[in-house]
Amino acid sequence: MIIYKTADEIEIMREAAQIVSRTLGVLAAEIQPGITPLKLDAIAEEYIRSQNAVPGFLGLYDFPNTLCMSVNEAVVHGIPTDKPLEDGDIISVDCGSIFEGFYGDHAYTFEVGEVTPEIKKLLQVTKECLDLGIAEVVIGNRIGDIGFAIQQHAEKHGYGVVRDLVGHGLGRVMHEDPQVPNYGRRGRGKKIQNGLTIAIEPMINMGTERIDQLDDHWTIVTGDRLPSAHFEHDVAVVDGKPDVLSTFKYVEEALSKKK
Ligand code: MG
Ligand code: MG
Repeated sequence: MIIYKTADEIEIMREAAQIVSRTLGVLAAEIQPGITPLKLDAIAEEYIRSQNAVPGFLGLYDFPNTLCMSVNEAVVHGIPTDKPLEDGDIISVDCGSIFEGFYGDHAYTFEVGEVTPEIKKLLQVTKECLDLGIAEVVIGNRIGDIGFAIQQHAEKHGYGVVRDLVGHGLGRVMHEDPQVPNYGRRGRGKKIQNGLTIAIEPMINMGTERIDQLDDHWTIVTGDRLPSAHFEHDVAVVDGKPDVLSTFKYVEEALSKKK
């Protein structure tokens, strides 16, 4: 059952999302060769708690950390390790918060040092997939239109669209209805209505769409171990249009200062 949110609830969710946005901005300044995911995890937890919020993933389904950190061929749900990041890596940082009872949940895939042009293109196309998916969140459309737009764009570039993991409704619960697949058919699925709040999160693989789960029972990796990218925004439907509650503004500001 989809739980539609009031205007007041959407404002609380905006702050929950923005806390995650600012956290990702703090991390953007720190990500470089040599730093460990565990160190970044500690920085994120401290920042989230300083914002009158709590980490949204810590303890959720028994997840052990604040951040899901997925390096290179890891798609999502990676557990932070003490293995230092290396020049040329990419790392998907997925972060959750709970603020006044509502979840924020969004993600960015960062370059570590200098990455190859092929990887830069994967990141760029995945970010475009997210924007194209968001543009479909209008009254008159259905959930399938979001996935259709994402899938078309990714497959045009020869990439694999992960099928087994999907975006989702978001609210007082981390994973609410409806599921928001990154593939789909036009005009299929639930109607988009005002008050809908969803996390849209394309997971796009350079090669096969197939995935495996590692023995840690968390980390999802690509079937061919080629790299994978993941970007996620929280979106509400307001006045028939998408209102993006999260922002990459803080990440982009931090990255431009590093150049
Ligand atoms: Mg997420
Ligand atoms: Mg999510």
